[in-house]
Amino acid sequence: MAANVIALLELYSIEFVDSGPNVAKGNVNIQCPWCGESDPSHHLGINLETAMWGCWRNKNHRGRLFYKLLAKLTALSFAEARRLTGEGGARAIQQGEMERAVQALTEAPNTPKSNTFKRKLQLPSEFRKLSGFTPQFSLSAKNFIRYMVKERGFPKHHLKNICREYELRFAIGGRFKNRIIFPVYEDKRLLTYVGRYIYPSSALRYLALDKEESVKQVKDCLYNYDKAMEGGNELFIVEGPFDVLKMDFYSRKKYCRAIGLFNMNLEPAQIDLLFNLRGKFDQYTVLLDAGQVAESLRLQTELSFLKSVEVFYMRGDLDPGDLTPKQARDFSRHL
Ligand SMILES: [Zn+2]
Repeated sequence: MAANVIALLELYSIEFVDSGPNVAKGNVNIQCPWCGESDPSHHLGINLETAMWGCWRNKNHRGRLFYKLLAKLTALSFAEARRLTGEGGARAIQQGEMERAVQALTEAPNTPKSNTFKRKLQLPSEFRKLSGFTPQFSLSAKNFIRYMVKERGFPKHHLKNICREYELRFAIGGRFKNRIIFPVYEDKRLLTYVGRYIYPSSALRYLALDKEESVKQVKDCLYNYDKAMEGGNELFIVEGPFDVLKMDFYSRKKYCRAIGLFNMNLEPAQIDLLFNLRGKFDQYTVLLDAGQVAESLRLQTELSFLKSVEVFYMRGDLDPGDLTPKQARDFSRHL
C-alpha cells in the first residue's frame, strides 16, 4: 500500500495539479523542489498508486519512496516523514516496476492518442442549466446563484444572459458535484470542460475533465475562443474563466472580447490558436496581477507576433474577475 499522496500534500499545503500538459494519468504534479525556482510549472510527477515520483527536467530528481520527497518538501526528518507515509517496510519492488513508472512519467506529455481526437464530447446529463432546476433542486440552484452574485460579483439579473451566452452549467452530482461548469469550445465543437468548486474547501478549486476523456486537453485550448474569433477593437488576454466572463460580457458592447489561458504559461497549441486571432483586433491587452512581473515579460515576448500587445497590471491582488461590471465596462479605452 503506497502512501496517501494527496492527503499528505494537502496536509503540508503543497500545491499540486491533477491535470494539465505535464500530468500523466493517475499522477499529480508539483513544482520540483530540487529544480526549485528554475521549474516554472509542475515538472515533478507523483504516481498516486505507487507513490513513485520523478522530475521531467532532471533524471536525478527521482525516487520510489515518497517519504524522501516529503522530507525535502517539508521540515520533516526522514524518520518523521517515513512514519507518516508508512513506507520503508518489507514491500519488495517488483521486477520492472521502477522502469515502468519512470517510462509512464516521461512519455506522457503531448502524445494525444489519435483515435481519441475525433471523438464527440457531450456534457453529462447531471449538468444543469440555471433554468433547468426543478423545485427539488432549488436549494442547489440557490447556492450556485449565491456564489455567482456574492463571490463573483455578477448582478443577479444578468445571470440568465451570462449563463446562456457562455453555456454555463451547474453540477449537482457526479465527479463535478458542486461546481460551475465552463464548457470549452473551438469552432463550435465541445473539446473539454472545467469546473469551479463553489464552496470554500481544500478540494481543487478548478477541476478539468481528464485529458483522456477530452477531445483536446484544457491547457491546449483558449477559453472563449469562438467569440474572440469574431474580432473587434480590443482583446483582453486573461487567466481564468471568471476573468473572461467579467471582461467579455461587460465590454462586448464596445466590441471588446476576452480569452482565457487557464494559467499564464502558454502552450504551443495555445500559441497556434492565438496566431489565428492575429489581425482581428486593434489592440491586445494582457491583464495580470500586480505581482506577475516575470510572467509579463515572458508573455509580451511570446505574444509579440500579435503586434500591438500591452500588459496591464491589476491593482493589489485583484483579478480581472474581481472588477465590478462598471469597472469592466470602462476598462477598454475604446468608446
Ligand atoms: Zn527537478
